[in-house]
Amino acid sequence: MGKIDENYILDHFDEAVREGYIQAYYQPIIRTLTGEICSMETLARWEDHIHGTIYPEQFIDVLEKNGRICELDMYMMEKVCLNYRNFLEKGLSPVMYSVNLSRLDFNDKNLFDRILSIFKTYDVPHSAVHLEVTESVLLQNTEIFFELFRKFHEAGFEIWMDDFGSGYASLNVLKDYNFDLIKIDMEFLSDMSERSKKIISSIINMAKILGMHTLVEGVESEEQVEFLKDIGCEMLQGYYFSKPMKEQEVMQMVEESERMVEDPVTRAYISAAGMINTLSSDPLNEYSRCIWKERGSEITARSKYPLALLEFCDGSFRFVYSNEAYDHELSLLGFWDRQDAERKINDRKRAFYEGTVSQMESAAKKGIAVKKNFVLEDVCYSLTMMVVAKNEKKTMMALNIDVFCRNGTEDRREEINKYHHTLFYYFELLIIMNPMKDSATQLYSKMTFDGRYGFMRLREGIRQFAEKEIFSEDKNRYLEFMDMRTIEDRILTESCHFLQQCFRLRISEGEYQWCLLRLTKMPTQENQCYMFSVQRLTGEEIRMIETYYHSGELYGCVG
Ligand code: C2E
Ligand code: CA
Ligand code: CA
Repeated sequence: MGKIDENYILDHFDEAVREGYIQAYYQPIIRTLTGEICSMETLARWEDHIHGTIYPEQFIDVLEKNGRICELDMYMMEKVCLNYRNFLEKGLSPVMYSVNLSRLDFNDKNLFDRILSIFKTYDVPHSAVHLEVTESVLLQNTEIFFELFRKFHEAGFEIWMDDFGSGYASLNVLKDYNFDLIKIDMEFLSDMSERSKKIISSIINMAKILGMHTLVEGVESEEQVEFLKDIGCEMLQGYYFSKPMKEQEVMQMVEESERMVEDPVTRAYISAAGMINTLSSDPLNEYSRCIWKERGSEITARSKYPLALLEFCDGSFRFVYSNEAYDHELSLLGFWDRQDAERKINDRKRAFYEGTVSQMESAAKKGIAVKKNFVLEDVCYSLTMMVVAKNEKKTMMALNIDVFCRNGTEDRREEINKYHHTLFYYFELLIIMNPMKDSATQLYSKMTFDGRYGFMRLREGIRQFAEKEIFSEDKNRYLEFMDMRTIEDRILTESCHFLQQCFRLRISEGEYQWCLLRLTKMPTQENQCYMFSVQRLTGEEIRMIETYYHSGELYGCVG
């Protein structure tokens, strides 16, 4: 469209307002975590019978230059309030809005009162409409704006910073004003180059550290959506989701449930969850200490910190977010992907479900990050959980997984191999015993013992060991100690996972020496296994045992 003459705009503005040629269009703002409409931006369109649709770029400047912009903005404010009422009257859940205010509106000393009186007339809560302002507002009216900023905030309005980063004073402005949200225009960074991505990530990171919500507008492609989701941008707006629409079109879209509108209960809840900084090197602690207002944090383009958001609702768990690092940890634990993990967590036949519920309850009660260690197959990991939002129906948790020991990892295995032989030197004999299978498997033996012990049936091995290796006076006590029918009960009464006693063992033909025998319960879930170990004692220990022995006291617990 060619440029429309300024005079045409000025001459017809009153008529356009009076006749309703100027209309409010609404562009949905989407909550990244849920895909629901959380707000709508109000944009002016002039439907002219000569020029067709006239876009703001044709008339905003003209109205600003001629001191008439405030009339337009108050007119738009009324339209929004009307729209809010229309939604309620149709029985639809109320929608939130944002409206644009020009920097020149703030020259009007009565701005605050004018806006309040509109809201009063239509009986609309102040929290339903967010005010979008650009930094230019602050450059010219610092004093006045400071005062108004405070008044609007106190009256319950949210103030959003529009076009963050497009001017030269954005950062300066953030230093002095506590905006509720910053809105970043994708247009400046739409090339999706690595540099652009880093800039956007850094802005999102900074906003969260400062305790501000985040929105990116001008979102046009799926690639952009995926990227913005991953870095934890809370809200998205742009042609990818929808163009600005007429009131009727918006109504229809909502009525036909093409897109759900966020209900007020969810709003507070999901908005709290959105404040988790997925880019932080320590998001759970940053969140729990609520010190994002002051604290510096490492800035990374993409976080290496494994982080997920898990929601509990109606008895089951659902992942609403996970970053690449988290998905990687899941794969180390043997899950195919996030969906696979979700299925298994929800499988009530598995221990995951109960475990997750109980950790969630403990985290909710404590109000801080709760960390627990687990072993899954041969992998040791810790799961840290923190409740970040909660209402009667739902609980949102931030999760971190740290897989810290995995036998399957090559370098780890090498390291273990290097040392486990040295561990064996502490023992004379190591045998894994499985009473259910009546089997014994030898792990390690010094030359002193018959190598066959580990390959006999368990019961036979115990019997032969008593015959050949144990000093005759200790034999009965040894057989009681090795009684597999009572071992489980005896271990249960101890506070540790093992039983031990000292016996005299044959070290060469006709020569016996006190040794420590230990039965340790193995941490495996299936068949109960025990490790039988024989250890030598030091001269000092042997002397102590001899003293006890001759004074008729017990033989157990040495070292
Ligand atoms: P803005 O506040 O930055 O509004 C966003 C603009 O981006 C809108 O242009 C919108 O239609 C457009 N847009 C939305 N999604 C996309 C997308 O995916 N890609 C691209 N390339 N553009 C997208 P619009 O409606 O032409 O408004 C232009 C500007 O005029 C607005 O920029 C705002 O500063 C101003 N404006 C609009 N309505 C009002 C009003 O009622 N009062 C005041 N003071 N200013 C207004
Ligand atoms: Ca805007
Ligand atoms: Ca903007």
